[in-house]
Amino acid sequence: MQYFDYNATAPVMREAREAWLHATEKIHGNPSSPHAFGAAANKAMTEAREKLAHFLNCHPADIIWTSGATEANNMCLHHFAQHLDAKGEVWISAIEHPCVHDSAKHYFGKRAKLIPVTRDGVVDLEWLTAEMADTRPGLVAIMAANNETGVLQPWREIRAICQTYEVPFFCDAVQWLGKLPAKGLGDCDYLTGAAHKFGGPRGVGFLKVPHKKATSPLLFGGKQEHGQRAGTENVPIILAMLTALEVRERQIHQSQHLLRGVWKENFEKWLLAHVPGSTVVGANVPRLWNTTSALMPEGGQQRWVTRLDKAGFAVSTGSACTTGKEEPSHVLSAMGFKAGQVAHVLRFSGGWETHDTDWEALAKGIGKVFAEVHHGK
Ligand code: PLP
Repeated sequence: MQYFDYNATAPVMREAREAWLHATEKIHGNPSSPHAFGAAANKAMTEAREKLAHFLNCHPADIIWTSGATEANNMCLHHFAQHLDAKGEVWISAIEHPCVHDSAKHYFGKRAKLIPVTRDGVVDLEWLTAEMADTRPGLVAIMAANNETGVLQPWREIRAICQTYEVPFFCDAVQWLGKLPAKGLGDCDYLTGAAHKFGGPRGVGFLKVPHKKATSPLLFGGKQEHGQRAGTENVPIILAMLTALEVRERQIHQSQHLLRGVWKENFEKWLLAHVPGSTVVGANVPRLWNTTSALMPEGGQQRWVTRLDKAGFAVSTGSACTTGKEEPSHVLSAMGFKAGQVAHVLRFSGGWETHDTDWEALAKGIGKVFAEVHHGK
């Protein structure tokens, strides 16, 4: 079975597993406890915070550990719900993950406005600049890289625009971190990440907040994380997350890693040449090196997923799927694709462990399934 669903979650790397096991065996204390065990746990957690701050280039005190990106994203929007006045708007891109979109709608209703994207799935900077000159929202939320299409968003430019108008900028960097350099991301006012997308364990992430600005807690209780997030910190998984990020940051800066993008591009070339009528989504713009989102010419997406699964390839539709009922991708819809086209989208997302031979094997598998679907089998 070959795994092409890294954007959903990635396997936990050996180094992260070892870091987790080591910390679980050796670091017993609660970081808030006033004895040597507590001090040891606190020291390890402080070092992890400093490492993350180093990668993001921010202050260690600006990092709040969370149970993952869903919590971190919700926390950010919850904070603004507490602080914006009754008329304050929140602008989010039309392609945000549901944990940003639904949370914004929950807290702000109609005051959560969608920022349009181009046909290629990039946030419309002209729209943003023109609208900002007119109205100032209380927050702009735009992700760094889209989970369905892999399309990279111009977060540096967006941050600069927001800075000009003194509007806080919140960036969900979940799919960017561990695939592209973290450097500079710490300049975003609010930033979120999750370990399990880059080889760390599931159930741990963070929210980076502006320096020395208190953030309203979503969870109340103990005074952990400077009173901003109650609950005993899970030191072993925090250490495992930072171990994973350290490994990825090292790999990202090795030039041979760029080959991975070439392998995926070769796969896309093969797809377009051998599956007539297929389309690569966002083909004209920079995308994550691991992600291909493609519209398949024949057969519904669920049929493709099931057949590829049987053929030994785990791929996904890239859209939310509840109890077996496919919902059309809001990302592709925002890009202007029709419902009929959206129903044919597949997401192939490889990772650090995916090699050229894996992409080639996937191409063969697709060729086989395409022949079956084409001949109505
Ligand atoms: N943001 C993006 C862009 C994602 O891709 C995901 C997960 O798929 C999340 C947020 C939520 O992350 P988690 O499930 O770790 O809370």
